[in-house]
Amino acid sequence: MKKVGIVGWRGMVGSVLMDRFKIEGDHKKFKSYLFSTSLKGEKAPDIENTHETVLDSESLEELSEMDFIITCQGGDYTKAIHPKLRNAGWKGIWIDAASAKRMDEEAIIVLDPLNRDQIEKGLNSGIKDFIGGNCTVSLMLMGLSGLFKEGLIEWMSSMTYQAASGAGAKNMLELLDQMQFISNEYDNNKNAAALLVEKEIQAKINSSAFPQNNFGYPLALSLLPWIDTKVESGQSREEWKAQVEANKILGTDKTIPIDGTCVRVGALRCHSQAFTIKLKKSVDIETIESLIREGNEWVEFVENEKETTLSKLTPAHVSGTLKIPVGRVRKMTLGDQFLNAFSIGDQLLWGAAEPLRRTLLMAIE
Ligand code: NAP
Repeated sequence: MKKVGIVGWRGMVGSVLMDRFKIEGDHKKFKSYLFSTSLKGEKAPDIENTHETVLDSESLEELSEMDFIITCQGGDYTKAIHPKLRNAGWKGIWIDAASAKRMDEEAIIVLDPLNRDQIEKGLNSGIKDFIGGNCTVSLMLMGLSGLFKEGLIEWMSSMTYQAASGAGAKNMLELLDQMQFISNEYDNNKNAAALLVEKEIQAKINSSAFPQNNFGYPLALSLLPWIDTKVESGQSREEWKAQVEANKILGTDKTIPIDGTCVRVGALRCHSQAFTIKLKKSVDIETIESLIREGNEWVEFVENEKETTLSKLTPAHVSGTLKIPVGRVRKMTLGDQFLNAFSIGDQLLWGAAEPLRRTLLMAIE
């Protein structure tokens, strides 16, 4: 039985990955070895076919025993461990949620509903590094796969509304701390006039007592229109990833330009995106709708009506599921070749854990 080392299994992505393994009965297909820095040497959780002790995620010796390593630990871990393992001669398959190796020439960004051929070809030709895409990129491609496959998109803009959990466990918990802080403040001012309540709460949000060690700024009752570091173009790195990663996944000969503004919002889980799409030619709206609908089995087409939109095109409806609802689909007043659309996806599932899980199974098979 193949040995699979799992690193970062107690983080946000790792926990969702472990859930998916369990739901799909995947643990029967391989022997799991859990690795951690903080829990090394402790008894592993009681999971089918899993080694009884947690191993040391920094031990090259223990990691080298694995046929596959799947890591959700983050980019710093990848940068520290991957080169050492390869230099020590490890020839196993590395599957990673972090961005560190995505744009390496010898690595494939995995999203099998769109690039299964690329992954299979890579596995057969000796590629060893398979990396999950950026969450908003994977969710955008999943939602609009019908249009991409048909080659209809000339360029597009994506404006994102990204959940707190996209920044990791500590950040998600900090959003809840911020909300609790606000809620306590509201309790103290419950009987005051609305504007006075607003002033009191606003003052507290901007005070040094407000919990913000991880985000660095208030997110609750606010938003943060910058994610990750700055790149030369003036984009944030999160914005830069949209074009480069999407085109790498699609294997395009001619780059499809994709740009927009990435914004962190106070949603707990699920990333949402508003798209402006320039089509290569005029296509009637019924054809566009059916292409989107048939893009893949996870797309849930939402009619452009108020009630269906508000009940189905929200993080509340999508969290914890593999659904990719796409709605608000209409021609824009900008012209017949301009399309508006809005999509949501669970960034921990299709945006992170699920493509990794499916790649591991493809590699094992
Ligand atoms: P995370 O939740 O911060 O977890 C990473 C590690 O942090 C854990 O494995 C754990 O390591 C440690 N940790 C510290 N405090 C923790 C706590 N309170 N609860 C759980 N774990 C805690 O990171 P993540 O969001 O899963 O992201 C992992 C990688 O996936 C990153 O490279 C990220 O960029 C990428 N990614 C994330 C998302 C997303 O939506 N979050 C989506 C796509 C890609 P030890 O057990 O060793 O202490």
